[in-house]
Amino acid sequence: MKTWFYSLPIIVLVTLTSPLRLHAQSPAEWRDDLVDHMAGTWKLQGQIMGRDAHHEVDAEWVLNHQFLRIHEITETGAPGSEKRYEATWFLGYDPVSERYVLHLLDVFGGRFSETLGYGVRDGNSIRFVFEYPDGPFHTVFQWAPEKDTWRWLMTQKDKDGKWATFGDFQLTRQPKSLSAVISGAESPEMLQPEGARTPAGATACTRPAFGDIKIAVRSWSSILGQTVLKPLVRGELEMAYVIAEPCIGTKDTACVDVCPVDCIHPRKDEADFEAETQLYISPVECIDCGACVPVCPVTAIFALEDLPEKWNNFTPINADWYTNKKA
Ligand code: SF4
Ligand code: SF4
Repeated sequence: MKTWFYSLPIIVLVTLTSPLRLHAQSPAEWRDDLVDHMAGTWKLQGQIMGRDAHHEVDAEWVLNHQFLRIHEITETGAPGSEKRYEATWFLGYDPVSERYVLHLLDVFGGRFSETLGYGVRDGNSIRFVFEYPDGPFHTVFQWAPEKDTWRWLMTQKDKDGKWATFGDFQLTRQPKSLSAVISGAESPEMLQPEGARTPAGATACTRPAFGDIKIAVRSWSSILGQTVLKPLVRGELEMAYVIAEPCIGTKDTACVDVCPVDCIHPRKDEADFEAETQLYISPVECIDCGACVPVCPVTAIFALEDLPEKWNNFTPINADWYTNKKA
């Protein structure tokens, strides 16, 4: 009896610290060709319950590559009137039930983290269903491969049984960290005018004159090793983004404020701002990030492949503005 009494704490300790799961072999890392495209840093913009939302999203693989941890938080520069929000999502996959799982933890507490979302894939989309106590809620993550953007669409059933949009967001990829790429010879720093963007400790570099450019790195994703380089060849200048007619008369410079490489001109503080009827994107400097598109209040900015035909002439108008400035 005495021996049994003294052995009890040891048995309890061993039981608590050695669950079977600790002895089980870790499963192989989870790899998913669609979810992998969500890893990275994003700017989220859209509407939640009819109100504007400007969030930063950072997604990375964690826990033996079993989950994509998605951290979402209101941008520091978001308007003061915008409600502050923060959430962490864990996106994983259950190979037994063959469905995705989505855990949500956010500033609204445990009540809404009790329910797990279950998802199925359809092409480039995953539709998650949350069966909340107050009704079903759907979250769709949809990837657009041609632009490398995501749409997050959230809908819920109201008490009358009608589906309504809860949130609709567009995510555009952002450079994760400038310092992560500045040491490489192909970094965007190397595409800036000499001395203009050389950070302390980095090697200064000189960009060749426009006429000598044979090839240049044009997208952050290529810098980060996710896609192959796109060539910019003299005489067959390939533009990334173009500002078209709707900018004329608007010129509010919202795009200038979000451009990470300062390639939209003239800025308000530049001499020719007043005289110009619109702004222009430099085909050489633009890194194809897409951040300017959603902020334009008059939908004046287009990826070249999306430019409406009636505004084809704005492709040379944008490029020529920079060429003529140099002349
Ligand atoms: S896509 Fe727009 S924001 Fe991004 S680099 Fe080009 S002009 Fe700037
Ligand atoms: S945000 Fe749109 S309208 Fe405003 S300056 Fe840029 S392109 Fe022109």
